[in-house]
Amino acid sequence: MGIATLNPATGELIQAFEPLTDEAIAQKIDLAQHTFEQYRHTHFAQRAEWLRAAAHILEEEKETFGQMMTLEMGKPIKAGISEAEKCAAVCRFYADQGAAFLKDIEVASDASHSFIRYQPLGIILAVMPWNFPFWQVFRFAAPALMAGNVGLLKHASNVPQCALAIESILRRAGFPEGAFQSLLVGSDKVAQIIADDRVKAATLTGSEGAGASLASAAGKHLKKVVLELGGSDPFIVMESADLDTAIATAVTARMLNNGQTCIAAKRFIVQESIADTFTEQLVAKFAALKVGDPMNPDTQIGPLATATILKELDAQVQSCLQQGGKLLIGGAPLPDTQGNYYPPTILTDIPPAASTHQEEFFGPVALLYRVPDLDTAIQLANSTSFGLGSSAWTEVEAERDRLINEIEAGCVFINGMVKSDPRLPFGGVKRSGFGRELSAEGIREFVNIKTVWVK
Ligand code: NAP
Repeated sequence: MGIATLNPATGELIQAFEPLTDEAIAQKIDLAQHTFEQYRHTHFAQRAEWLRAAAHILEEEKETFGQMMTLEMGKPIKAGISEAEKCAAVCRFYADQGAAFLKDIEVASDASHSFIRYQPLGIILAVMPWNFPFWQVFRFAAPALMAGNVGLLKHASNVPQCALAIESILRRAGFPEGAFQSLLVGSDKVAQIIADDRVKAATLTGSEGAGASLASAAGKHLKKVVLELGGSDPFIVMESADLDTAIATAVTARMLNNGQTCIAAKRFIVQESIADTFTEQLVAKFAALKVGDPMNPDTQIGPLATATILKELDAQVQSCLQQGGKLLIGGAPLPDTQGNYYPPTILTDIPPAASTHQEEFFGPVALLYRVPDLDTAIQLANSTSFGLGSSAWTEVEAERDRLINEIEAGCVFINGMVKSDPRLPFGGVKRSGFGRELSAEGIREFVNIKTVWVK
């Protein structure tokens, strides 16, 4: 399938889009560069005003945008509406804080006056995934535009309407034509776009393969990249934890966005003494979840975004079972539907040699482990190639300190689920990527950190 809106709840093709020709891509890069030359001189106050106007549009039309997300990738409608609200919040956050994050910093040296100045780089390419089709883009666009850069978006091929809507929101908010453009192109055009001298850097949120491909194309031209890749976050529950809250949170942390979240809790690592209770209640809560039409506000789990994702997820589950894993609930696509529905699923007793341990399950499938103590929990948590997020539940201070220090991940949430927050940096280590988004760290990724030394 090329670039198209295909309803994941019904399998119906809603609209196909022609990819841009090479000539059209070149024209958009020309426009971006031309715009940058003026835009870089606009004041922070002006950029902030445009970001606030974008926030206002997002809030005013959140139902429309929510429906668009649900139609294209199947997230429950309430989640789509909240996503539009969260995008408004990140626009306001950078409108309020961006100038302070980028103001000159005085540093004493042997000069009579020396300081750091942050300046925009130019055109930044953003290659984005479909799972949070608005949020992933706005968490890049708000800081990039506030810093004085201009953006080119290559969005995932299954969310073209979202891609075009985002460009339109930013235009209507007042940003100049060319400050942010959506390029409807396939992934085969990414290397060619990065090779253009005027494109200064790139960011990609998505799979390891796509990240490696973008990083090598950018590396060939010595351009900076930020990569936000996959994860298989541990969710560790020790016996001192508030078990009811931990279990309720475990369900949300695994099932949010139909299980298709990079920072979803994917591996539940539970201390042996509470494992029976945890397991029993997790199974009951998974069984009670409402799977169905994502446009229905009561639905908790909608369809997976594409038929291929459904097939691949089921293949992972079957492979785990063939390797000796045990199924507690779910385990096969829902029958009698045209949509990509997979039920909440739990796999446990997975043999040590199974390949399952190293895989990311991008859907409503939980891997459940029992461990005797904290040492084993930490060792297991760190035993994958991923290092995105982690959540750990304990009331014991010494355990908390060890978890904070020893978990190999871009973040550790104690007694809470991993979430992104504009005020806090977001990103991973190991094969989950590098660089950070959000907060002051995020806006400083795509700027020239210029040293100024005056005698
Ligand atoms: P994907 O296939 O890697 O797609 C993401 C984006 O990369 C799409 O725009 C895609 O375009 C493009 N792309 C694919 N192959 C490419 C290549 N060889 N060169 C350049 N661009 C390429 O990712 P996905 O499978 O849809 O998304 C799920 C993955 O993203 C999961 O691993 C998830 O954990 C990760 N993710 C990470 C974060 C984070 O913040 N760390 C957030 C969300 C998702 P097309 O659609 O045209 O193929």
